[in-house]
Amino acid sequence: MKYFVLIPDGMADRKIPLLGDKTPMEAAHKPTMDMLAQKSVCGTVLNVPAGMVPESDTANLAILSYDPRTYSKGRSPLEAMSLGLHMDEDDTAIRCNVVTLSEDEENYEDRIIIDHSSGDITTEEAAQLVAALNEALPMEGRKLHTGVSYRHCMLWKNADPTYNFDRPHDHLGQRIGDFLPKADNGGAEFLEFMKKGYDVLKDHPVNQARKAKGLRPANSPWLWSPGRKPALPNFAEKWGVSGAVVCAVDLIKGIGVCAGCDVISVEGATGNYYTNYTGKGLAAIEAFKSGHDFVYVHVEAPDECGHQGEAEQKVSAIEKIDAEVLAPVLAYLESTGEDFKILCLPDHPTPVEIRTHSPEPVPYFLYDSAKTVSGTIFTEDHCIAADNYNPDGSTLLADMIVR
Ligand SMILES: [Zn+2]
Repeated sequence: MKYFVLIPDGMADRKIPLLGDKTPMEAAHKPTMDMLAQKSVCGTVLNVPAGMVPESDTANLAILSYDPRTYSKGRSPLEAMSLGLHMDEDDTAIRCNVVTLSEDEENYEDRIIIDHSSGDITTEEAAQLVAALNEALPMEGRKLHTGVSYRHCMLWKNADPTYNFDRPHDHLGQRIGDFLPKADNGGAEFLEFMKKGYDVLKDHPVNQARKAKGLRPANSPWLWSPGRKPALPNFAEKWGVSGAVVCAVDLIKGIGVCAGCDVISVEGATGNYYTNYTGKGLAAIEAFKSGHDFVYVHVEAPDECGHQGEAEQKVSAIEKIDAEVLAPVLAYLESTGEDFKILCLPDHPTPVEIRTHSPEPVPYFLYDSAKTVSGTIFTEDHCIAADNYNPDGSTLLADMIVR
């Protein structure tokens, strides 16, 4: 038996006027998902336990069978693991975006956050900005490490791993003053790093060059999501299968590393809309061919389209995942003659209307090549109508993997 799990991140959504009052899942032409779902157990599942923030790390931990209430230590430590960084017990990992702030205001607090991803800045450009921040703002026990695109990792000894930062993608278009770390609740050093970081980055040659090309400058660091080193039970020992994770996003890779899975990076996979969909499908097929029983493919693109408010691009991202990832993997699995199961679901909704994650249950289908059933087409409403609700996403794999 082979197992394929496909996560179109943030795919679930709400009705959108621009799409004729359809959701992106309803508007997308996704023949393979719909064909499989119509032969699958369909339903809805709650990946993010009530009271927890609907972050991708939380939801993906659950889908990989690790109850976030026990195992979630925040996203940044997972990203640190994926970067191969060594974390000591007293190290706090903190996500550090490079973001785009407006530049016309006099005070840092009055600036508007325009883009949490700095126009999807390249890793090469961002690495120069990270180096500039480390050089200009040195501190014993603190170092910023380059990640991917706008997503970087601060390791900071003895920083408060429970400090409650605001998330930059939740405040796009807003004045940042109300969302910055506060000096009066233990955030003084965090605030100082962000403010001084703006002064370091604003006129950096990388940003001057970006502005000259009409691109958004990455003119401020933004710290959020702190945490200490996580410890996950080994996936292969837990389930008796050899697992691989195919992903472009550090935090999902980090979950794979912590779980002892083979973590596969795909050339050209970016974590945004312009990603290498075909390469991800091929990587999944190669992972099966190399002996893995369980392959988990995460595609960030629909989530990013949700954050950017791009409804039509989100439809297109879903169509590309269907045609360029799911269809070829299905064709490969069918060609082997071996039985297989396919589980497909978003980790959480990222509605275009609100441009951030929402905590509702998500639609899923679980296809079993050996036992097809009467399912439904793969939309939010159809899966709700299937009247099959799982309140705990960390139990989904138990329905899938035969022990
Ligand atoms: Zn997500």
